[in-house]
Amino acid sequence: MQTFDVIVIGGGHAGCEAAAASARKGAKTALVTHQFATVGAMSCNPAIGGLGKGHLVREIDALDGLMGRIADRGGIQFRVLNRRKGPAVRGPRAQIDRKLYAAAMQAEIRDTPNLTVIEGEADELLLSQDLSNARISGVRLADGREFAIGAVVVTTGTFLRGLIHLGETNWPAGRVGEAPAMGLSRSFERAGFVLGRLKTGTPPRLDGSTIDWSAVEMQPGDDPIEPFSVLTDRITTPQIECGITRTTNATHEIIRANVHRSPMYSGQIKSTGPRYCPSIEDKIVRFGDRDGHQIFLEPEGLDDTTVYPNGISTSLPEEVQRAILASIPGLERVKMVRPGYAIEYDHVDPRELEPTLQTRRVPGLFLAGQINGTTGYEEAGAQGLVAGLNAAILAGGGAPAVFDRADGYLGVMIDDLTSRGITEPYRMFTSRAEYRLTLRADNADQRLTDRGIALGCVGTERAGRHAAKMVALNAAKSLAKSLSVTPNEAAKHGLMLNHDGQRRTAFEMLAYPDVEWANVTSIWPQLGEIDPKVAVHLEIDAKYDVYLERQAADVQAFRRDENLILTDVDYQAVPGLSNEARQKLEKVRPRTIGQAGRIEAMTPAALAILAAYLRREARRSSASA
Ligand code: FAD
Repeated sequence: MQTFDVIVIGGGHAGCEAAAASARKGAKTALVTHQFATVGAMSCNPAIGGLGKGHLVREIDALDGLMGRIADRGGIQFRVLNRRKGPAVRGPRAQIDRKLYAAAMQAEIRDTPNLTVIEGEADELLLSQDLSNARISGVRLADGREFAIGAVVVTTGTFLRGLIHLGETNWPAGRVGEAPAMGLSRSFERAGFVLGRLKTGTPPRLDGSTIDWSAVEMQPGDDPIEPFSVLTDRITTPQIECGITRTTNATHEIIRANVHRSPMYSGQIKSTGPRYCPSIEDKIVRFGDRDGHQIFLEPEGLDDTTVYPNGISTSLPEEVQRAILASIPGLERVKMVRPGYAIEYDHVDPRELEPTLQTRRVPGLFLAGQINGTTGYEEAGAQGLVAGLNAAILAGGGAPAVFDRADGYLGVMIDDLTSRGITEPYRMFTSRAEYRLTLRADNADQRLTDRGIALGCVGTERAGRHAAKMVALNAAKSLAKSLSVTPNEAAKHGLMLNHDGQRRTAFEMLAYPDVEWANVTSIWPQLGEIDPKVAVHLEIDAKYDVYLERQAADVQAFRRDENLILTDVDYQAVPGLSNEARQKLEKVRPRTIGQAGRIEAMTPAALAILAAYLRREARRSSASA
């Protein structure tokens, strides 16, 4: 039987990052996926990044993952969202050419050393006989092939017992035109996992050559373009514009008259969908018609006339979808290439997972992506990287790689999932992060690349570039901190500082909201010699410096609680805990007091009891040592 250190099941966004991270770490890795041709496929919108999601892409990139670089190759319209707000909440986003993205991802996977692609359907997880103490030993494919493994990462997306709904009909599928995965769900149930059901949806696709583009507003991308990856020097792919239109009163009338035919409202779908990505029928039922709902008309590629109408995800019957489209300005004569649909699928309760994304129930079994109850390519990719890296570490030895809430959005997401579980598909937002000023999209590499180098998942090219950038940035900071002026001298250059007679350095002056890089270079021409890419980081660091000092104290307090480790606590033996607290702690099995505090409805009293118990146990073990 062929043996691998790590097998990754599923070649979607989580699976590609997991397989590549495992291989970068040096593990002999296989990626088992239905078809190599669908590697890098985007099931829904042709876009990467956005608010919160863009942070995740930059963090994946900082750890030498794939998504940022591939999006730079496939991007046909780049925009930084929230540009007028502070850098902490800006979200880099790109419209993507589907074919270019998939081709670039397939080339990357094919060329990754230590990585073998196996086409086929994983049908069964081979577990040790004793299920009360199960351990993963292999994977069996539907065609009978078996592989022995050290660890497995399951990233099956929407395919586990997937069921597509369109109007009054439904049929088993993992995505439109692709068969679902039925066997693996049985393996999960056999190992004792309770599977839940979630749903998501997608809009109809349109033939762009039949859209009246003169009737819609056009939106260009940014110029100059800010790529996702620090390894991308220049975007060379031609850029396009997207269109914007709106639903009308007629659209809303059609939806209201037919809403009972939507599987979500007829009772045909019982599972929960993403509240923040509602279908158009949900928007009308929940938010009314207002003055119309915005629709972005997003081309799916440079040599493809297909257009993705972002904002009208629906599972209403096909003829109703056609009527809806005809009621929208610019789409009156549009040809529908494919109807929208909804899909229901199995997921695992993410409270079953350690922060490494290994399941507690079956050592060696890791889960990432949609199977953990998340939605979105970026959420899937970030989890995939963490799971793949940790699976390789488990198979090859070494300390687990755990990212906490102060390390990055990936730490925030994993902590939210493993501590609180989910009641609807989980999507990343900047508001989920408490240390937003520290966790910016622009400083992901400064936060994570050295960590990635130490963990062994960053290649030599990135490590070299990172070292050079940090040398240049530190030198620039030292220079900016060594140059100073009095308020009177600054006033001669048109800059009004506090009239307190205090000298201020160029670095301190940049903290003023109305002082920009051009202002300080007009005083000190030597600052103008600094590479503009380095200067951008220097300016942002200077603007945030004072806030970061304050946030550092919060991070320190957070890390104190994260260092109070709860290993193998028998919660039945902790006196004074309520039954409810005991049950919650047993379900989540938090790693630290900090994580225990983030479990839903955990009380300060229960935390105080736990902390006292830990202190007692520590005293007892040091007395007996
Ligand atoms: P996927 O990208 O689904 O990849 C799963 C991969 O695993 C596939 O390649 C599949 O072939 C393979 N696979 C599955 N089972 C097996 C098996 N047993 N053996 C071998 N290979 C297997 N996200 C949003 O952010 N917003 C949205 O509005 C949105 N709408 C969506 C609508 C639809 C209809 C669908 C299908 C998805 C939607 N998504 C949306 C979700 C987005 O596509 C996913 O979150 C993301 O693709 C999840 O990545 P993943 O890697 O977990 O799984």
